[in-house]
Amino acid sequence: MRKNYFAKLIRYMKNVYHIENGLNKLTDGRVNPTYDTAKAVTLVLLGFLLRIKSFNELNLMIKNNEFSKLFPRGTRLPLVDSIRDTLKIIDIKGLKEINEYIIKKAVENKVFENGTIDGCTVAAIDGTKFFGSNKKSCPECLRNKSHCFHSGVVMSIVGEGPKLVIDFENYRPGQDSESKDEGEQNVAKRLFTDVLRVHKSLIDVVVYDALACNSVWINHCRQHGVDTIVRTKNNNNKSIREVKKRVNKSEKAEVWTNERGFEKIEVYELVFIMDKVKEPLRFMKYAMKYQNKKRSQIMIITTCMDMEFETLFKIIRARWDIENSFLII
Ligand SMILES: [Zn+2]
Repeated sequence: MRKNYFAKLIRYMKNVYHIENGLNKLTDGRVNPTYDTAKAVTLVLLGFLLRIKSFNELNLMIKNNEFSKLFPRGTRLPLVDSIRDTLKIIDIKGLKEINEYIIKKAVENKVFENGTIDGCTVAAIDGTKFFGSNKKSCPECLRNKSHCFHSGVVMSIVGEGPKLVIDFENYRPGQDSESKDEGEQNVAKRLFTDVLRVHKSLIDVVVYDALACNSVWINHCRQHGVDTIVRTKNNNNKSIREVKKRVNKSEKAEVWTNERGFEKIEVYELVFIMDKVKEPLRFMKYAMKYQNKKRSQIMIITTCMDMEFETLFKIIRARWDIENSFLII
């Protein structure tokens, strides 16, 4: 059964997304390599699809000829050492191009035609460390004492449908501070500008964590004509401190009962002016009471001035996965 689905999936990837076209174009600067880059990357991709736990597992599968039917008869496949050597020097630009093609194809095939949450196509941004080492390093490494590492920011679709990764951007050593929030926000701004240049009008709303709860991010999104939702943080921004105080004294805008997974949710809303932001913003607080009587709350600020309370909450749920916190309790 599994094999059958797998063969179908591979055929689909080939026929619809022409993955192997992109893979065949990948380069890595080696002269006359025994194995081409495409084969090494394809094997890793297949490993990911099958959720391998380690490169050793992948190695075993290659040795046992489990992938032989996916390649032309007689193809010699590289083993894990050669795959590692290839991955070390692979050209990231080629991988980005493959991803760009996949997103364009998905748009062309109307995958996002009806949006991902209540008609809006929503994307989320997150910073992450890709890998690190105390022994090895390269000129592109970020450093924390003797630890060398690579970090980046990733943008992906949230909501219904495929959660595609739209694009990613690496930190640039010396330019993006690796330890501070401003560093990540810098990378995120660059990523966002790039995504909007390549995939015009794909994204309606972009969601980001509390580190972007500041005028620089909000203005950046407004300049690009995309709405944003960010979590508020306990920061020293005077206008946010004030609106938080005001919201605690304000009337509930709405109360929902028996919402999926919750006993009760109280919704609060205020419109306010943030320091260094021209147009007004919306401040929302959702106070949630779970069925086991535990409570939590989430506060956001957003440029989505007309969006329904429900839709905003759906986006919050999709991004911060608050059902999970319910399940853990
Ligand atoms: Zn490095």
